Amino acid sequence: MSPIVTISGGGIIGNYISSRLNNNNIEAIVIEKSENISYIDENIRTLTLNSFSKKLIDDLGISVKFAEIKKIKVFDGEGSGKIDFSSKEINEDNLSYVVFYNELQSQLQESVLNQTIFGNQIKELNDDREQNYCTVLLSNNEEIHTKIIAGCDGRNSNVAKLGLFNETRGDYKQTALTFTAKANLDNINSAYQIFSEKGIFAIMPLPETMGGATHTIVWSIDNKKLEGENAEDYINKNISYFENKLNTEIKIHSKILSFNLSNHYFKNYISGSSVLIGDAAHSIHPLAGQGINLGFADADAFCEEVIKAYEMSIEADRHLILKRYEIRRKNMNLLMLKSMDFFVNLFKSNNLYMKLLRNIGLSSVNKNQFLKRFFINHAAGKNSL
Ligand SMILES: Cc1cc2nc3c(=O)[nH]c(=O)nc-3n(C[C@H](O)[C@H](O)[C@H](O)COP(=O)(O)OP(=O)(O)OC[C@H]3O[C@@H](n4cnc5c(N)ncnc54)[C@H](O)[C@@H]3O)c2cc1C
Repeated sequence: MSPIVTISGGGIIGNYISSRLNNNNIEAIVIEKSENISYIDENIRTLTLNSFSKKLIDDLGISVKFAEIKKIKVFDGEGSGKIDFSSKEINEDNLSYVVFYNELQSQLQESVLNQTIFGNQIKELNDDREQNYCTVLLSNNEEIHTKIIAGCDGRNSNVAKLGLFNETRGDYKQTALTFTAKANLDNINSAYQIFSEKGIFAIMPLPETMGGATHTIVWSIDNKKLEGENAEDYINKNISYFENKLNTEIKIHSKILSFNLSNHYFKNYISGSSVLIGDAAHSIHPLAGQGINLGFADADAFCEEVIKAYEMSIEADRHLILKRYEIRRKNMNLLMLKSMDFFVNLFKSNNLYMKLLRNIGLSSVNKNQFLKRFFINHAAGKNSL
């Protein structure tokens, strides 16, 4: 087998890249560690896509249900700081779109089923830098000759380990709990985010009402608060705080999924024929719902560079392709990661001055149209460096 691109990891980003490259007659295969499983049965986890990511999946012909978000209201539960964003402020119909993770993953997987090897992973990489190709040995001892290895294998990337990439890792010491719920909020197209000592609480509309569930919740909680207590008990004890803030009853409607929150990034995204993309290259706090959007922006830049180079020559220079991708994406991703960390720390702090800063900060940004438009455009995927 000699595909031009071998992708490690058939998550949303790996499958998107495979689909787009194959549609452009560039052979790409996916090596996925898990067996071929159906994702469609259980729709609990959601993703918030910005307009840029939504357009990328539309352009592939992937059609998934979505809920439109036209307004986002963010407030500090402990103080008076608040900020609200509206799609009208950037002359767009919507700020973002909530989709079911499993539905999107299942449709993308379906689109590249014939180009995916399940239940397998890369065991060894032998790079021939002079010949401009690499020999990949899989765990079933099958050999693949390829030009580029795209590491799309998530936050514990195997490609990063095999390529000896230089990693920086942090731990937010928080857990994100996510579940669906029934709530009765004023505006169905609004998302709300509350920063408080009980955690960072985000509530957004679901793509469709499921047996009474209307909203999806992502609640990030300090691990210390969860010590000696199970997640469900913590939620049951503390949800009334947010019910009061939002002036609605919130009824849990699904099982509760739990994720440990950490961040990581790499000094370089490329090593020989290997390149890191999406969560393999960087992971961030879910508070702004930007993880998959950064991954889609990476995937778009990578595909554009590969397609452009192969349109010009079948002997495309892989180092140039990968370098261009890295230059386009690395600083942008780092900026987003650092900004998220700043917000997490700002809202974690009990220091009086920090509390004052966030109250004044949120309210002043709210009054400043220029800054507001800057933040909204970033969230909507309209700004780049
Ligand atoms: C609670 C929560 C809520 C979130 N909400 C949002 C949101 O609203 N909006 C947003 O933009 N982002 C959100 N994110 C982030 C988003 O989910 C991730 O950024 C995104 O799923 C990463 O996609 P990926 O394809 O890069 O990696 P992954 O989803 O991690 O996929 C990696 C794939 O690689 C496979 N794999 C792993 N190891 C190997 C190996 N050795 N060999 C082969 N295959 C391997 C895995 O099985 C998997 O299929 C959220 C994250 C969390 C935890």
